[in-house]
Amino acid sequence: MAEVVEKVYEQVVARNRGETEFHQAVREVLDSLAPVIAKHPHYADDALLERIVEPERQVIFRVPWVDDAGNVQVNRGFRIEFNSALGPYKGGLRFHPSVNAGIIKFLGFEQIFKNALTNQAIGGGKGGSDFDPHGRSDAEVMRFCQSFMTELSRHIGPSTDVPAGDIGVGGREIGFLFGQYKRLRNSYDAGVLTGKGLGWGGSLVRTEATGYGTVLFAQSMLATKGQSLEGKRVAVSGSGNVAIYAIEKAQQLGATPITFSDSSGYVVDEAGVDLDLLKQVKEVERGRVADYVSRRPGARLVTEGRVWDVPAEVALPCATQNELDGAGAATLLRNGCAVVAEGANMPSTPEAIEAFQAAGILYAPGKAANAGGVATSALEMEQNAGRTRWSFETAEAKLTGIMADIHDSCVAAAEEYGRPGDYVLGANAAGFTRVADVMIAHGIV
Ligand code: NDP
Repeated sequence: MAEVVEKVYEQVVARNRGETEFHQAVREVLDSLAPVIAKHPHYADDALLERIVEPERQVIFRVPWVDDAGNVQVNRGFRIEFNSALGPYKGGLRFHPSVNAGIIKFLGFEQIFKNALTNQAIGGGKGGSDFDPHGRSDAEVMRFCQSFMTELSRHIGPSTDVPAGDIGVGGREIGFLFGQYKRLRNSYDAGVLTGKGLGWGGSLVRTEATGYGTVLFAQSMLATKGQSLEGKRVAVSGSGNVAIYAIEKAQQLGATPITFSDSSGYVVDEAGVDLDLLKQVKEVERGRVADYVSRRPGARLVTEGRVWDVPAEVALPCATQNELDGAGAATLLRNGCAVVAEGANMPSTPEAIEAFQAAGILYAPGKAANAGGVATSALEMEQNAGRTRWSFETAEAKLTGIMADIHDSCVAAAEEYGRPGDYVLGANAAGFTRVADVMIAHGIV
């Protein structure tokens, strides 16, 4: 069986040259599928594996816009519609200078299995641009978003493809994107984007959902060992949407988050993160982590090394891909870390994952642990379709139930394929079989 998946992997590398993050994401999923295909060989029939690694559609487009100084800027836009077996393509938009086809493709590929794990009717997709919103005025961000949506609007729709936020795309950007979509279509299709403002079709709990879900997943993993987050020190990376609400939920559950970071460095606050101050600096002022330290006695800024150097029992990587490497994993393990739950997408390198698994700690891959964000996006779509709005408590109860179900599906699949406690195998196998069964039902498309 290993031979079948190896051939598919070689084809992916040959066809998507230089797209290393995409190769990495495919490698991880295919490695998990060997025992699935050994037990159920029909999943390798009719080139199903070859089809699942090939996006259904890829759109790459020019995004010209005018900056505040009157200069014309040109960025590149992407939307990769990877798999629509389960529902409309669904996945965020990332605005970051590092964005390229390989990064969007890896994110779109991960999204297929993540969305399947939520058990909701959503396919997988992802998009974005190499535009960098840092240091840009609101007016520049608006003009960029309007130009980006002018092309993107041809490809999306509430039953076709429903983007949301990701790195560099939050409430402000979703607002500008929605405004332009509505203007172009002359139609108030609230369900075309998720992560909308609460006054115009957004769902309560969507802002919090990814971070909250990640921590709920960590809590479920600990419960399998008769433990909880109560009293545990937590190292968090990032200081954006996912990190902030992971810190909030960890605090609610009695843990003590002591770190966060951005691309300028990381902060250690041994007294526990002051969440109100962090939100003020990051959500209101769009500042840097140093702005927190200057107002918080006892907190220190570290610009060398990694956040993983700080001793903690729980690690929540919530920034970006490959931010936690083999050396970072070794340091975490040496310092007694026993739980890693990924708020970011693919933050751990293959070497780090290997180290966590060899040490037998609780390790949850992003496609399971951070699925609460997209799950709540699907809840937002459901509210938009029904022209209704749920309370915070209703939406949070649904998120909590979904995260518990994802956890239990991963545990059950890991057991079924002979590797109890292996959440990587569990997430990949459970997500894959759901999508694959529907692809088989739909025929060769
Ligand atoms: P934000 O843009 O809100 O925050 C990103 C944070 O990560 C910032 O603190 C940013 O610092 C830091 N960061 C980003 N890129 C780098 C980098 N190359 N090096 C160092 N630091 C970096 O994004 P989100 O919180 O929404 O996303 C974080 C992660 O979570 C991503 O992997 C995303 O794909 C994943 N995710 C997000 C979901 C969501 O609902 N938003 C859902 C599921 C997964 P700086 O500002 O200095 O760049």
